Amino acid sequence: MKIKYFAIAALIAAIAGVWGCDSDSSDSDDDRLDIVATTTMLEDLVAQLGGEHVEVHGLVSVGGDPHVYQPRPDDARVVAASDAVVMNGLLLEGWMESLVRNAGGERPIIVGGEAVDEEELIRVEGAVDPHIWFDVGMWRQVTQRVAQGLIELAGDDEAIAEHVRQSHEAYDQVLKQLDDWVRDQIQTIPSERRVLITSHDAFNYFGQAYGIDVEAIQGLSTEQEASQRDVANIIELVRERNAPAVFTETSVHPGLIEQVARETGIERAGPLYSDSVGPADSDAHTYVGMVHANVKMIIEALQGEYQAFDDTTLTAVDSKGDGA
Ligand SMILES: [Zn+2]
Repeated sequence: MKIKYFAIAALIAAIAGVWGCDSDSSDSDDDRLDIVATTTMLEDLVAQLGGEHVEVHGLVSVGGDPHVYQPRPDDARVVAASDAVVMNGLLLEGWMESLVRNAGGERPIIVGGEAVDEEELIRVEGAVDPHIWFDVGMWRQVTQRVAQGLIELAGDDEAIAEHVRQSHEAYDQVLKQLDDWVRDQIQTIPSERRVLITSHDAFNYFGQAYGIDVEAIQGLSTEQEASQRDVANIIELVRERNAPAVFTETSVHPGLIEQVARETGIERAGPLYSDSVGPADSDAHTYVGMVHANVKMIIEALQGEYQAFDDTTLTAVDSKGDGA
């Protein structure tokens, strides 16, 4: 798996040279940047930063699982027609390498995960944990990297570059407030109940950033199946910790976590949005909404004191100048 990551990194290094040359061979019929994003979180991020100046195509759909995504035949065509791909990296999208190859290879790729310092990355049994979006502070770094990438892509189109610069500034303020809010909220849960038990190991960064213990039935990726042994271990842990609830996740089948809830008689809470934002008609259809919805579910199930995130500042992203 390690080799795969480096292969992509090498590929990125190889095509980095393409960035500089502005001889506009672009065949798009408008001035918008045409961006492919691998996950729904990145899709939202690109839309937040680029606004009407970008057209974003998400690969993994809402509720989908990016670990085991199977590229469709059409995806290679979409990638080939785009100006750039934005991906998470850190081995989340093991399928990206072949997709880029099928698309003809030469493509600028913005890897959000590269923004995070090597020492800050969590490793579980030697494998890098890719779920960096659950630490809002880390997501701010990813946001910075993606903004920088979009500005480079804009080249001498100053209108696009300026738009991205301004929306990045406004959006970063929102993320900073969200980060503080999550930390404050989690602290309202009495420490003995501060344990987050989920289906797969997606919440390590969340636990580290906000001070809550994290346990999961399955490992970092949903690629390997859990055993009854793993389930038994979690049941034991629930009893040991006297946990008030376990949480299902939107992108993982709830069967095993339901079994834990059934056998221990505790509440089955969730579903938490783990590797995807929520559907378009939900409050969780953006990254900020997703984090907010998750924290609300966690606070309520673990009996903290929930107080809604004041997202009135979100309007500052669209209507600049009136930010608090
Ligand atoms: Zn995951």
